Amino acid sequence: MTLQGLQGSEAQAPRRSGSARRISVLGATGSIGTSTLDLIGRDAEGFEVVALTAQSRPEELARLAIKHRARVAVIGDEAHFEALKAALSGTGVEAAAGAQALCDVAREDTDCVMAAIVGAAGLRPTFAAIAQGRRIALANKECLVSAGDVFTAEIARQGAELVPVDSEHSAAFQLLAGAEPGSIEKIVLTASGGPFRLWDQAALEAAKPEQALKHPNWSMGDKITIDSATLMNKGLELIEAFHLFPVSAEQIDIVVHPQSIVHCLVMYKDGSVLAQMAPPDMRTPIAVALAWPARMAAPTERLDLVRLGTLTFEAPDEARFPALRLAREALRCGGTAPAVLNGANEAAVAAYLGRRIGFCDIARTVERTLEGAGKEGALRTPACLEDVLAADALARRLAQAHIKGYQ
Ligand code: NDP
Ligand code: MG
Repeated sequence: MTLQGLQGSEAQAPRRSGSARRISVLGATGSIGTSTLDLIGRDAEGFEVVALTAQSRPEELARLAIKHRARVAVIGDEAHFEALKAALSGTGVEAAAGAQALCDVAREDTDCVMAAIVGAAGLRPTFAAIAQGRRIALANKECLVSAGDVFTAEIARQGAELVPVDSEHSAAFQLLAGAEPGSIEKIVLTASGGPFRLWDQAALEAAKPEQALKHPNWSMGDKITIDSATLMNKGLELIEAFHLFPVSAEQIDIVVHPQSIVHCLVMYKDGSVLAQMAPPDMRTPIAVALAWPARMAAPTERLDLVRLGTLTFEAPDEARFPALRLAREALRCGGTAPAVLNGANEAAVAAYLGRRIGFCDIARTVERTLEGAGKEGALRTPACLEDVLAADALARRLAQAHIKGYQ
């Protein structure tokens, strides 16, 4: 997230001692990836970096791999392999490229894999990482949304440990530690409301990508920033929470909290409500996922309640932000509906960022794609990852047809 100090030193990390925790970062050049490496760089004795991956930025990947003394750097897009090799030449960092190499390094033995690739593209590498049966620090929410039960079953089968990185889910994870499932009444996820919280329908129809990319509180990758503006991000998080915690869909509420200080509340059956608070900086939930159940230092701004003064909460408006309703419906429908919702949303967000459709066409595309997939009988329960990927591919095909219609 905010990366004060990240650019500080370009010096290489010192060699680690034998007790250092081995970590790989999938999506190392992204917002979550660089925040993770910022924390690791501040505790260089405590971590040993095994693998770093990226997709389209070989020079940046090489810079990070050299700085953090990674053993191997992998670029997903093979077209960038020569550039990566050249940038790593003589450094001792191994270079690899391609989709298979991403999965191969994800499988390498570590203590923790930070899964921070954006979108359904993270599915295969994250599934590969589960195979080592260690900790998955999960930022890639699209994995859990699309693959749901298939993903959690694979975690259980391989004896791996899933620790959420998404701030609301990290908060719930902390608030629920040691809770009896039957004692939980509700989980309340907060949403900032995004940059268009107070915009009327006409203004939303005309909203430009550069306006949608200006999130009031968080600095994040482009895709999740657009999802925050449509509130699809909260819809995805609702599905994510359903798979992470022992509650029904009806026990998960969404409340808009524009200050983004309270990230989640858990209401217990005795009337007690626990809330987790922190300034909006992803380095806090990342630190939780890396160190849990211990705590590690994170150089984030400290919460000053007196300076903040007021925290406010309001109901989300599902008429202006239909993505929330669509996510709830997809969760209720089950089967591959969440995978279709996610695939269609990814296609629509890319089209919006490419200025091929309007802001409100994102949710329209998702809704029509879900209807189309339903008519084709394609929302059956997925048995394996391949079924999820097939639903994702179908959703993208159907969505593209709707996107063409808006142009
Ligand atoms: P970014 O867009 O900033 O970074 C994405 C990373 O994934 C980059 O390293 C990118 O490589 C890599 N990548 C992109 N496409 C592919 C692909 N097809 N195959 C393999 N790697 C790819 O995303 P964020 O860091 O913002 O988000 C990462 C995940 O974390 C998302 O799922 C998001 O929803 C989730 N998340 C993010 C939060 C945040 O604060 N940013 C908060 C909560 C959750 P390259 O740079 O080379 O293109
Ligand atoms: Mg979140």
